[in-house]
Order: sequence, then C-alpha cells, then structure tokens
Amino acid sequence: MEASVASEFDLISRYFKRPAPAGLLGVGDDCALFPVPAGMRVATSTDLLIEGRHFFPDVDPKALGHKSLAVNLSDLAAMGAQPIGCVLGLALPRASEPWLAAFAQGFHDLADAQGCPLIGGDTTRSPHDLVISVTVFGAAPAGRALHRDAAQVGDQIWVSGALGAADVAYRLLAGQLPADAMLLAATRRALEWPEPRVALGQALVDVAHAAIDVSDGLLQDLGHILSASHVGAQLQYDAMPIAPSLQGLPPTAVRQAVLGGGDVYELCFTAAPDQHVRVTEVAAHAGVSVTAIGHITQDPGLIVVGADGQPMRSLPRGFDHFPVS
Ligand code: ADP
Ligand code: MG
Repeated sequence: MEASVASEFDLISRYFKRPAPAGLLGVGDDCALFPVPAGMRVATSTDLLIEGRHFFPDVDPKALGHKSLAVNLSDLAAMGAQPIGCVLGLALPRASEPWLAAFAQGFHDLADAQGCPLIGGDTTRSPHDLVISVTVFGAAPAGRALHRDAAQVGDQIWVSGALGAADVAYRLLAGQLPADAMLLAATRRALEWPEPRVALGQALVDVAHAAIDVSDGLLQDLGHILSASHVGAQLQYDAMPIAPSLQGLPPTAVRQAVLGGGDVYELCFTAAPDQHVRVTEVAAHAGVSVTAIGHITQDPGLIVVGADGQPMRSLPRGFDHFPVS
C-alpha cells in the first residue's frame, strides 16, 4: 500500500532531517560530526528491533518510534552517560507516509525530551519485514562510568520504578494470558512507552557501583552484574516494587512477570549501604522511585527469599534469543 510516491530523499528530509543543535553536523552529509567534551569518553550502543520479534506488526507507530530510541537511551542510562545524539537505520517494506510521520513524531519527541538529536541514519526498502536499528552516542565521565563488573560484597541492590507490567501486557497481546481489556489498558503503557532512566543513571555516577538496565528480566540482567563482578546476591521477594496493576493476577504469573519479565527498561544497580540515603536523594531529584531489593554476597549464585523466609524454587528465566535447550 503506497500512500505516495515520495523518494528516499524526500522521506528523509520530510521526516528525519531536523536542524542540528549548534556545534553538531546532522543529517545531510556523509557523516555526522559531534564534539566530545574534555575528560569524557564516547559511550555508544545499538539495538535492532525486528517486526514480529520485538514488536507486533500493528503496534502504534508513534509508540514504536518512542520505544526504538528509548531502549537505546536505556543503555546510556545504565552507564551513567549523557546523550549526545543518535542515528537511525530503517528497512521499510513500504513507504506509508502517515506511518512514517507518526513514527518520526514518537522518535523526535523523546529525542527532544532527552537531548539526543537524530543526526544521521540510513533508509532502505526491505523485501519483507520492518527492521529498525538505532545507535546512540553519549558522553560518560572517563574512568567513572557505571560498569557491570563493579558490584562489591555488601552492596545493596536497587531497582528503579515498578516491575512486571510490561511482561503482563506482552502476554495479553500474545494471547498467553486470557484476554482482559482492563488489565491490558493498565499495563500497555509500560510495554509500549518505556521511560529510559537517563537522569537517574547520570545522577548515580559516583554514588552507585555497578548498573545494568533490565531488558531481558530482572534475574537474568542482575545475573550479568553478578558474573561480571564475581559475586552472588540475595533478594527479598517481599521488597520487590510490583506494579500495582498486577494485583489480582495469580501469584505465579506475578512472580514470572516481576522476576523474569523483559522489556522493563528500569535500572538495576548496586551501591554501598552507606550510600542508602544519597541513592534515595538523587533518585528523588531525578523524579524516579527506587527500591532496595537485596544485597550482594560473597557466595556466588542468586537467591530470592520468599515471604516464608525460604529461598524460592524454580525461579523464572529471562529472555534469550538463542536458548541452548
Ligand atoms: P549515503 O549514501 O552517504 O549513505 P544517504 O543518502 O543514505 O547517504 O543519506 C543521506 C543523509 O540522510 C545522511 O546524512 C544520512 O545520515 C541521513 N539519513 C538517511 N536515512 C536517515 C534516517 N532514517 N534517519 C536520519 N537520517 C537519515
Ligand atoms: Mg545511506
């Protein structure tokens, strides 16, 4: 369905070319150029989003534009980096202008809100599915970025925001949970409009030790911190910030969503116990709730203590594109 006969270059200049901020060379030349502040390192990360795998084909294009950038900004947040700019690769099966206009709106709105202008990209036709590739660039303070390998024994483990809603929305849309329009209305925003915790990540530099963003499930992503840092962890299930919209769901579905659910884009981080007050202060300043959910242990492994004081059995696994079994 061709809505018009715009050329590749028309589409780029209509939807993706924006005046670049002063000092940057944006869309229109062979490369974008941006300065890097003294004493900083360029932080860069890329994420692919593929139709049918990362999003439903009929997803609201404005939400998709937002989320394509949000998942990348979440990686900058997890390093404590400040956004500089981003590039967008699009492989489009068709050139529907209403679709592109809405997608670009969602993308640019978040780019503007987070100071991460679109400064380049590539646009091509795809023979089948829609593929979106976003790469972000940020500035991280040299030697002080938040790394996965920096957790220390005795650290408190924190998570921002609330957990579980995105997973429930996904399962409702995928037909893995019985249809429930009210529950979908209450959880869908978490799945489609994640808010990358960019301000919180930057505020945690010099306060937190290790950090990661929860994209594949809390236990799996925390597991990356544990293995990189050669430590273990004990979590309290009672302490988890469970999304209020999950009330009324069977406990097993809640547990799966909270501990194993992906697409969360909250930050999980560790900080020394004497930083407890400071963590809550910088989080309040960044406008994000944070919850202490456990601590780092010398013993390797990850234990979640249930309401009965006993370690929970058969913990959910997170998402893996290439599971071994
Ligand atoms: P080249 O042939 O050198 O790769 P293109 O014709 O692909 O250049 O792109 C022209 C300009 O438009 C470049 O500055 C490129 O970065 C930009 N551009 C192309 N597609 C996009 C897009 N989807 N979003 C933002 N900028 C884009
Ligand atoms: Mg090109």
